[in-house]
Amino acid sequence: AISVRDLRKAYGPNEVLRGVSFDVAPNEVLCVIGPSGSGKSTMLKCLNLLERPTGGSVVVAGVTLTDPKADVDAARTKIGMVFQHFNLFGHLDVLSNVTLALRHVRKLGRAEAEEIAHAQLARLGLAHLARHRPANLSGGQQQRVAIARSLAMSPEVMLFDEATSALDPELVKDVLAVMRELAGTGMTMVVVTHEMGFAQEVADRVIFMDGGLIAEDGGAREVLGDPSSPRLREFLSQVL
Ligand code: ATP
Ligand code: MG
Repeated sequence: AISVRDLRKAYGPNEVLRGVSFDVAPNEVLCVIGPSGSGKSTMLKCLNLLERPTGGSVVVAGVTLTDPKADVDAARTKIGMVFQHFNLFGHLDVLSNVTLALRHVRKLGRAEAEEIAHAQLARLGLAHLARHRPANLSGGQQQRVAIARSLAMSPEVMLFDEATSALDPELVKDVLAVMRELAGTGMTMVVVTHEMGFAQEVADRVIFMDGGLIAEDGGAREVLGDPSSPRLREFLSQVL
């Protein structure tokens, strides 16, 4: 579903990604861990060209995004992305937040868009909040709306960048439960997270990024349970 080869990104002289290669198979959940500044968010943003790579190739859902001739807008509709901050539109109610892209990107009519949106909101336990403004929801509810909004577009892959980091501890588990359920449905996911319990339980594979490179890549049990590099051992001792 995703194939990344020798991905590079520099901001001026600052090489943030220095040759990153990995694959994510269909239905696979890849968790990405690593210290602050190691390039995790930059790597994720290169997967849907929110950041333009300075080198290498990215193929997502059969489209070579790094090919100048690629239809990036069309490809992006197959890639859902959820950030730490939910980026909901405050002036729109929950339902309109979820229907917005369906109507304006997918060009669906109101009734059809609302039917899809209601189904996603119900799936995430948010049906009763459809007419509320985001500001009146808890952080966990807002993040679930953001996930519903992404899922409404029927993405082939979902990218999560520290989706629970901005939440109060008691709200984290609801969002992790949604992500776990999504993984259970076979969604292909790349999840940047500090939640090692989640990674241990849900990830098929874990990569550890350090200094713009992948320092470890393997099964969750192998990478988290039996880390071979001192850097990873040090990192895990700090986050666990
Ligand atoms: P964190 O765990 O804190 O989220 P991260 O692993 O996601 O860290 P990135 O956000 O990818 O790290 O940043 C990697 C490096 O790239 C940092 O040194 C950062 O300062 C730099 N960087 C990120 N975005 C930009 C930008 N738009 N312009 C210049 N430098 C940037
Ligand atoms: Mg980050």
